[in-house]
Amino acid sequence: MRNGVMVLLAFGAAALVVVAIVRHDRQQAENRAAVAELEARQAANAKPRVLEVAPGLSVQVTSSMPPNAQLLCSKCLHAFPPSQIHTVPTYDLEGGRYVGSYLCDEHWKAALAETRARIMADASVDEVGSMLEVLVRRGVTKDRLRTFTEDRSRDEAALAVLDALERGRLVVPLP
Ligand SMILES: [Zn+2]
Repeated sequence: MRNGVMVLLAFGAAALVVVAIVRHDRQQAENRAAVAELEARQAANAKPRVLEVAPGLSVQVTSSMPPNAQLLCSKCLHAFPPSQIHTVPTYDLEGGRYVGSYLCDEHWKAALAETRARIMADASVDEVGSMLEVLVRRGVTKDRLRTFTEDRSRDEAALAVLDALERGRLVVPLP
């Protein structure tokens, strides 16, 4: 009787181990499937899509910047390496809101001055909001932004952010 119980216990333990191993294998298979799916998605994203935007003019669409990328300055339309490009919120008259513009070492400060002048002249809540929104959309964290806007009035906050951009204390990351 005692032996019988032992056998049952031993059998029970073995069954538990088997169940555990099966579960473990299934978990691993699920993990592998998830990893494979992630890798496939990354590969699809990493593969540049080429779009023809006009006859003879194609652009590459990628989720991240390739190492040899060059960016166009929106003022002089020359191509520069990312190290010489600054992202500046500039007002888009047509769209009626701010957008993030790429500008070269030579042109970014003038664009920033234009934005500053516009904010100082007559900025609505929406306009200031859309200027700050550009920065957040481009990867500036709200906490980082708050270090310049906290305890300031709306216009002062906007100007403090523009100052920080000009002095390089606030940098808008490139994609
Ligand atoms: Zn330029």
